[in-house]
Amino acid sequence: MMLMDKQEQDTFNPVRNSPETMEADGQSMAHDKKQANPAGNDAPSAKSPSMASAQRNLPGTKDEKLYQWPQRPLESIESAFALREYLQAMIRHDPHDVEKLIALPAGQDEHSWLYEHLCQICLELNYLIVHLEPECTPEVCPEMRAEEWMYYCATHATPRECCAIDYLTHTLDGACALLNNVKFFPSRISVPESSVKNFQSIARRLYRIFAHAYFHHHDIFDAFEAETSLYERFLKLSRTRKMITEKLIIIPSQDGDENSDSTGQRKILARGKDE
Ligand SMILES: [Zn+2]
Ligand SMILES: [Zn+2]
Repeated sequence: MMLMDKQEQDTFNPVRNSPETMEADGQSMAHDKKQANPAGNDAPSAKSPSMASAQRNLPGTKDEKLYQWPQRPLESIESAFALREYLQAMIRHDPHDVEKLIALPAGQDEHSWLYEHLCQICLELNYLIVHLEPECTPEVCPEMRAEEWMYYCATHATPRECCAIDYLTHTLDGACALLNNVKFFPSRISVPESSVKNFQSIARRLYRIFAHAYFHHHDIFDAFEAETSLYERFLKLSRTRKMITEKLIIIPSQDGDENSDSTGQRKILARGKDE
């Protein structure tokens, strides 16, 4: 069955068509990469020397000893990336405590919190794609499918059929470009009201990355999920913030979710009949 998502008509990355903005976009991505290290996987950039020495993975530190410092309260993090650092510290501490991870910290802006979560989910989805790459080749998955659906890649000027691994990569790059586009997200402190709707289009497309992994590379999905709970985090966040509609959820509920498996199954059937 071929699915042309009606909503694919909206432009996922509204800047793609313009050469100047693509360039600006590229700069924005490069800029982000520079920042991704301190914020992404290294020690938080502490201001005082004493704090810096207390929160640093020294050369030669073994894997299991990395990041072994007490979690700091959000108010005490003096950094332009305080929310991100706080979120990443919580994830390192326990990636499976999804309720705690997605709860809005006291006194914080809901949309900024969502923004940080989406950036973090994109960052971690890169690792899922790395795990998928050896198996999800153009020969094995020549089309982007999830369950019985097939998707066109909307990151091109005209949506087209990309093989699954290209679709996953293009979609993730598109989401990162949009999140790093200063026209839509000029600051981390507040998200313009007009940009909030982009969260939904990002979440809808990121969902398909999980869906392809679940339906076509189940062992990889399961192993990644056991380690990260990334899908569970993404799903709970998206559901509680109404970023994706129930109708789009085609992955059956995972173990431990009290919405039993049958709910997920029913949704698949319902969706099959609808289309
Ligand atoms: Zn695949
Ligand atoms: Zn593509």
